Amino acid sequence: MAQAWTLASRPTGTPTHDNFALVDLPTTVLEPGQLRIANRWLSVDPYMRGRMNDVKSYTPPFALGEPMQGGAVGEVIESTADGFAAGDLVLHMAGWRDEAVIPAGQAQKLPPLGVDPQAFLGQLGMPGMTAYFGLLEVASAKAGDVVFVSAAAGAVGSTVVQIAKAKGMTVIGSAGGADKCAWVSSLGADAVIDYKQGAPLMKQLAAVAPNGIDVYFDNVGGEHLDAALGLANERARFAICGMIEMYNTGAPTQLRFAARIIGARIRIQGFIVSDYMGRAGEFYNEMGGWLQNGQLVREETIHDGLASMPDAFLGLFSGGNKGKMLVRV
Ligand code: NDP
Repeated sequence: MAQAWTLASRPTGTPTHDNFALVDLPTTVLEPGQLRIANRWLSVDPYMRGRMNDVKSYTPPFALGEPMQGGAVGEVIESTADGFAAGDLVLHMAGWRDEAVIPAGQAQKLPPLGVDPQAFLGQLGMPGMTAYFGLLEVASAKAGDVVFVSAAAGAVGSTVVQIAKAKGMTVIGSAGGADKCAWVSSLGADAVIDYKQGAPLMKQLAAVAPNGIDVYFDNVGGEHLDAALGLANERARFAICGMIEMYNTGAPTQLRFAARIIGARIRIQGFIVSDYMGRAGEFYNEMGGWLQNGQLVREETIHDGLASMPDAFLGLFSGGNKGKMLVRV
């Protein structure tokens, strides 16, 4: 019998296993125009933490007692829709379950780019697109820039590092722990800061960015954002992608260097990846090429089985992943 994770209760602070419940799904007969999909890969992403709260945001909150949603790649096992047949691999948003029944209009066939299907949940999917457009469009990063990126060993951050190197930038990453920092270096970063090492972030960043930074790609917020403000060069550009440090605490960020925004004419721009969905073609073209020719390293941290979904999700907040966090069903 098909199963799905539902939101059992809304978390206060860091979510726990009690916030999730695994339930059996009722058996369904397909209506015209629908697909039955056996999910093979499920995505867990930090933004899902926001959907666990009952607040108005750019995506609606998860409903209590209902199957949760998220990116998934699966194989069509039954179709009543034109253009889809059993065996097709599709990308869709009915994740957190092993079998999905959805209208065909909510599924996208995987483009034939010759890469593993789960790449469409990572570097060729939402996180990759976030890195690509966030860096090149939102931050207007260009060859010669000094780019600082936080959560640099994560799905978005590790892709930012590699795109920036491919485009001739100098890259400084920050990540938690020696192992992750070594990995970010191996991706080509010119310097890496271990923010868990104890020394003040501002001091660490100043040591590796003696001439300041031109671009900050923010995945974390808080002290990282403050240090970036403190060391930003005149007319630096900040792409505010995420603030994971605050997702569970909601604590206000103390920005000691905020006034530098004025004097240094810093441009700070938040963005949502969906702003760029209409430009998927150019993204697939360039990123697909880099992945096919091996210029882009793809790393995944994989949990096995639907039952491991909450563990994988909670791991995002304790640094449990290198590259993209995925669940293989
Ligand atoms: P990651 O793969 O980077 O996973 C999260 C990582 O964040 C962890 O591995 C951990 O790495 C780090 N982290 C967790 N808690 C903290 C903390 N308190 N302080 C510093 N680092 C922390 O996730 P994604 O790549 O999917 O997402 C990265 C960011 O981008 C998130 O903030 C997310 O919300 C945002 N995002 C925004 C999008 C948009 O459209 N604006 C789209 C997609 C993502 P470590 O071990 O190094 O601490």
